[in-house]
Amino acid sequence: MIRRLALFVIVTALVVAAAVWLADRPGEVVVHWQGWRVDTTVPVLVLALIAILTVSSFALKLTRGIVGFPRRLLAARRARRTRDGYRALSDGLAAIASGDPRRARKLARRADKLLEDRSLTGLLTAQAAELSGDETEAERRFTTMVERSETAFLGLKGLLALALKRGDRVAALDYAHRAWALGGPTDGIAATLFDLQARAGQWPEAEATLAEAKKRGAMSNGDVLHARALALVERSRVTADPAEALKLALAAHKADSGLVPAATQTAALFHRLGKPRKAESVIATTWRINPHPDLVEASLALAPAENPLQRVKRVEKLVRANPDSADGHMALAEAALAAKLWGQARTHLEAALAERPTGGLYVLLAKLEREERQDEAAAGAWLAKSTTAPSEPAWVCTACNKGADAWSVTCPHCGTVDGLVWR
Ligand SMILES: [Zn+2]
Repeated sequence: MIRRLALFVIVTALVVAAAVWLADRPGEVVVHWQGWRVDTTVPVLVLALIAILTVSSFALKLTRGIVGFPRRLLAARRARRTRDGYRALSDGLAAIASGDPRRARKLARRADKLLEDRSLTGLLTAQAAELSGDETEAERRFTTMVERSETAFLGLKGLLALALKRGDRVAALDYAHRAWALGGPTDGIAATLFDLQARAGQWPEAEATLAEAKKRGAMSNGDVLHARALALVERSRVTADPAEALKLALAAHKADSGLVPAATQTAALFHRLGKPRKAESVIATTWRINPHPDLVEASLALAPAENPLQRVKRVEKLVRANPDSADGHMALAEAALAAKLWGQARTHLEAALAERPTGGLYVLLAKLEREERQDEAAAGAWLAKSTTAPSEPAWVCTACNKGADAWSVTCPHCGTVDGLVWR
């Protein structure tokens, strides 16, 4: 502002000085041109020149304005279209996030029409199609996204989700592989790839995925160790060579010491190789973390010839490592009942009753009343209770909710990897 003011003052001063200078020097100018004659003074000539220059500069500006008008109109229209396109894109993504497929599709079509670059609207259109159940269109759009390196990962992720949804595991494995190989953001791909490889029985490949996932920080350390233990247990189970099988089982037990099947597998193999002490130690380690009836069974299997009293001692020794679990009390009660140690059996049954009253527990209480006191009435009362009580925990699949008699790495009903939980 101040600079403009100063410039104005300087220009005005110069003009005034020039006018004064001209006025001080009067003179005449005569112009002869093509039979024309103009007689004038110098100031008038200067003023006339200034007037001509001003008028012609204005005329030039006007012409330029008229000539450039359509082009400017077009540019403004294009800018408006782009702005509206981006708004439709942004609103469409918001509609996806809030789960409104109709609005998302409408906005996707609008963004598609307004924005010339189709790769910009690919994700929105694909997701909108997916949300509204149009899987063919979604697949077509995701496939287009795979062609550009910037959107390839999202495209493959979309295709992977679609393949999993329609149960095509072969295609899903391929997409997961390609997405993982891009090396960029991992976002759950590692776990999915491991799962698909495990289901396909590709255990060495699945283990390689885990090693890479650890390197890339794509899975938590605990998850990597647990998944590796699963892979090792499975490989140990199908290995014919007992020494190699033991090596694999022991590695599984070390990777995840809380994994019951790893411990029972290792113990069985140590037992077969004539190393019961090592087997006991493995079972005890896992009992400390995760007390489980399969561990009691594995321990008892190490010495099948023991008498009931010896079996009580064996179970007592195991349970001592983690004494307060319902499964520990149940195991001790059962061993004590078999050895006719009524007092001990009653103590543990009552402790288990306080923790987890189940049908199996009431059956044991009935057995105690009958065998210790021949009290049929009390036994009948417990048995009546057992029919309505919750059942004993068992291996149940988290995916299909069906039970299994024994643990396996994949659910025997639906094939889910690591689906069986004890509950
Ligand atoms: Zn299942």
